[in-house]
Amino acid sequence: MWYLIFSFIPFISDMAVGLLYRGRLRKVSTRYFVALSAGIVTAAALIELIPEGVVEENYTYLLLGFILFYVVEKLTMLHACGEEECEVHQLTPLSVFGMALDNVVDGLGIAVAANINIWLGLMLTIAVVVHEVPQAFTSSYILKQLMKPHTYIMMVLALAGIMYPVGALISIYIPQSIYPKIIAFVGGVFLYVGTGDLLLEAHRRFNINVVISVLTGILISLVLKFLGGI
Ligand SMILES: [Zn+2]
Repeated sequence: MWYLIFSFIPFISDMAVGLLYRGRLRKVSTRYFVALSAGIVTAAALIELIPEGVVEENYTYLLLGFILFYVVEKLTMLHACGEEECEVHQLTPLSVFGMALDNVVDGLGIAVAANINIWLGLMLTIAVVVHEVPQAFTSSYILKQLMKPHTYIMMVLALAGIMYPVGALISIYIPQSIYPKIIAFVGGVFLYVGTGDLLLEAHRRFNINVVISVLTGILISLVLKFLGGI
């Protein structure tokens, strides 16, 4: 049951972003949050997912996750942007598809991790929430720029957000023997999202506080791993 409960947490946090959003991105604070998220997501991949995904056997799945999300992100221009004037952002059917795919994979990853170990599931949930919150901000910002009403923004967020539980429900049909492969795949996805997307985004301009935020994120993941004893 935990797998389903956990998958609703990013849904709730994305909706909260939509509710609280007032039409502007606060540049600096967004960047620090993106940096913190980069640290948490990258460390979650390196210290949890990659070892748990039995990478000696499943390295192709790790690579596949990395490549797929690199290609999807570049094709859809779907990233957690900290800039108000980010010019590459649009909301096309392709970017909506990319967002949905990302959320299905996140939900599936949370469910499989929770089925292996509740603490691992919780860690993955945190890593998903922190990288999805900036994305929910970005989506709200773009839609606001397109003069969409607030109810429309909330509907888009709800539709995208329901993909986490959908992904979690897919796990019912996945035999336990496949779990390490799924975890390796999600590890590859997180490695890309953490370094190729979030870390890059946070470092558009040099700022020592961004470095500190990234290191803090890594520390948070390490503390969680230590507390969970996994
Ligand atoms: Zn995601």
